[in-house]
Amino acid sequence: MTEPDRVANGQVVTLRYRLTGEDGKLLDDSGDEGMDYLHGAENIVPGLEKALADHVVGDKLSVVVQPDEGYGRRVGAPQRVPRDSFPDDVELEPGMQFVAEDAKGRPVPVWVVAVTQAEVEIDANHPLAGAVLKFDVEVVAIRPATSDEIAHGHPHGPDGHHHH
Ligand code: ZN
Repeated sequence: MTEPDRVANGQVVTLRYRLTGEDGKLLDDSGDEGMDYLHGAENIVPGLEKALADHVVGDKLSVVVQPDEGYGRRVGAPQRVPRDSFPDDVELEPGMQFVAEDAKGRPVPVWVVAVTQAEVEIDANHPLAGAVLKFDVEVVAIRPATSDEIAHGHPHGPDGHHHH
């Protein structure tokens, strides 16, 4: 008998998951196809990654993740910036993420909260920052990552192609 593969660093894991908030509201869903992530590369929130370690294909688990091990705590408040500080050809929608620069020129992720004709409200907090997250997860597949995937820190598609 060989031991079943276990979720560990350097493995590409396919998950099916359902993410709900504390109030039971559905926040995200992988669909039947599931989603691949590279274990140990911070592709998913730390609380979920920790809980999945050592699991095998077919395992189902429910994980409650506090903000500190999820998308962090909220810091600061959303800011309003003039609409014309964005390029005209970019269609801005709530939930969009883009990369801005902080005062020192370092890249920081920013999310669009609301858009009016004159202004855009942006927030440095992930939309789920401060939220308690409840994941219902099933481990669908486990395979060793390729050296490319390890170098890139994320899984590639079945044909090895990816976009970035
Ligand atoms: Zn890549």
